Amino acid sequence: MASETLLVAGGRVLRPDMRVTEADVLVDRDAGRIKAIDADRSADRDPDVRLDATDGLVVPGLVNAHTHVAMTLLRGYADDKPLDAWLREDIWPAEAALTPADVRAGAELGILEMIRSGTTAFADMYFHVPEVVAAVEKAGVRARVGHGAVTVGKDDPDARDDVEESIAVAREYDGAADGRVRTAVMPHSLTTVSEPLLREAAAAARDEGIPVHFHANETEDEVEPIVAERSTRPLSYADDVGILSARDFLAHAVHVDDSEIDKLSESGAAVVHCPASNMKLASGIAPVQRLLDAGVTVALGTDGAASNNDLDLFGELRDAAMVGKLAADDAAAVPAAAAVRMATQGGADALSLPGGRVEVGAAADLAIVDLDAPHLTPQHDLVSHLAYAARGSDVRHTVCDGRVLMRDREVLTLDAERVVGMARERAADLASRTA
Ligand SMILES: [Zn+2]
Repeated sequence: MASETLLVAGGRVLRPDMRVTEADVLVDRDAGRIKAIDADRSADRDPDVRLDATDGLVVPGLVNAHTHVAMTLLRGYADDKPLDAWLREDIWPAEAALTPADVRAGAELGILEMIRSGTTAFADMYFHVPEVVAAVEKAGVRARVGHGAVTVGKDDPDARDDVEESIAVAREYDGAADGRVRTAVMPHSLTTVSEPLLREAAAAARDEGIPVHFHANETEDEVEPIVAERSTRPLSYADDVGILSARDFLAHAVHVDDSEIDKLSESGAAVVHCPASNMKLASGIAPVQRLLDAGVTVALGTDGAASNNDLDLFGELRDAAMVGKLAADDAAAVPAAAAVRMATQGGADALSLPGGRVEVGAAADLAIVDLDAPHLTPQHDLVSHLAYAARGSDVRHTVCDGRVLMRDREVLTLDAERVVGMARERAADLASRTA
């Protein structure tokens, strides 16, 4: 039996080299892969499913390479504080009260928001991970998920339990949801997990062939204790404990020196740049152009909704391009194409997930951006529009693994009204419990 086809017809296509060409995109739905990119628009006049891309640009589904998706329930819960006080006074106490059902509601809300803004894959560090997996499975997106382990402030058995849970979750769920869910072992950061347990997490991840994901060099406060205690830079310590390999990816890398940029480049570990969160928490500005110049794989992440405060990766794209220029004191730094690459190819490469490129044989993870809008007129340069002018609300259709997740701005895999209602209810209840 011939496999089912999906035709994305009538639009323009963003190619991996950042050229934009007129073409239809033909998808093999059973394989979840792009079968043809057809400039003649004659590939299949009778597809099983057709999406209208007239006045649209077909781009790879965006990749949100670092978030804590269920933190959508804490959106606007506490703002305008430095990272340490914000975590200790507001976020951690609220998170301690989160139930599995809260995490499910927050995850569905976050994924709904991401599908609507053209994101088809994300990396998630949180807890109650089975709930996040269930939400990913239902919504039809891809994710690399993990349990964020913290050992600081815990006695030995509790600390060990948390790291062992991170390892167990990574083993159990890798390959779930027909392979759309992959995992990572996720020690929270270099300062919140003890050295022996970081080494154990690393060894277990290596044994299983699973990546490690962690926060690093987000604030000066995270760098100084490591330098003081170990007389070495944080990423050299990360390398020493074994969590800086080509499969691993770390969030932030704001305060990195040249030796650490070299380490990243040599190891092949990827950086997830989270510009909005770094600005909001006044953490600093990552040296993105220097990382790119050194050949480091750079992806983009929103971080949690509580420090952003949305999961719209188009906002991140714009912020990355803008703040990258400021950091380099050079308007030519982090040009539009570099920012678009980070949100697509960089994300897929950092997370070792399919997608990120619209090309024959690639995963059919697509977003169709509606260009018929005043703020996207005229159209001198569509890559410029993606970086500087487009918003998540411009996305008309979203496709992941060959399946249509959103058609004409209506999400098909989640009941938007129910998801939003549930999230409101759970968030209000959480706030009353923690007040
Ligand atoms: Zn984070």
